[in-house]
Amino acid sequence: MKIVFFGPPGSGKGTQAKLLAKELNILHLSTGDILREKLIDGDSLSIKLKEIMSSGNLVSDEILNQIIANKLMSEECSNGFILDGYPRTISQSEFLLSFFKSNNLILDVIFNFKIDFKIVEERIVLRAKKEQRSDDNIDVIKTRLDKYIEETYPVSQFFSDNFSQKFFIIDASEEVSKIQKELMFIIKKGQK
Ligand code: AMP
Repeated sequence: MKIVFFGPPGSGKGTQAKLLAKELNILHLSTGDILREKLIDGDSLSIKLKEIMSSGNLVSDEILNQIIANKLMSEECSNGFILDGYPRTISQSEFLLSFFKSNNLILDVIFNFKIDFKIVEERIVLRAKKEQRSDDNIDVIKTRLDKYIEETYPVSQFFSDNFSQKFFIIDASEEVSKIQKELMFIIKKGQK
């Protein structure tokens, strides 16, 4: 099962992806988590990454495409995966689709998490307190939401237009368990 999640920061897609990956026994591939792990290295690349991420800007497509290509080729992904936080730009989506094509992979389903940006801001301020993420504060959230609208929204539109049968809009303001049930319902329906 190969799944892509779209949604602005704070839409709860990370939480849903974790739960769904466990349920389906597939890999939760969060590029944000992978990048945050890299920050621990403390080398010159990680210092650069930290600067970009804590300002709310996007890391370069080259770095992200490399990370994704390595992961998708690995054994961890043999049973399937959920892409959470990638592709985030048109260039990343072109890379992904050509990677799928050249490796004979087929995308099964795309979920687009929709939510009011006011709710996102409240959630992120709360998460900042709990997890102490340096990119979770109200100043940075504005940049992250702007990046989402400028860079990622057009990508989700592209997928909506080109994969309309596999593209599902999810109301991300609902309860976690209700959303999870809805995702499973859609997936099971698609398998019939
Ligand atoms: P996330 O946890 O998905 O919100 O990602 C945290 C930060 O990591 C983002 O604000 C970006 O700086 C960086 N990042 C994660 N995924 C990507 C991506 N696909 N392209 C560029 N930057 C990314």
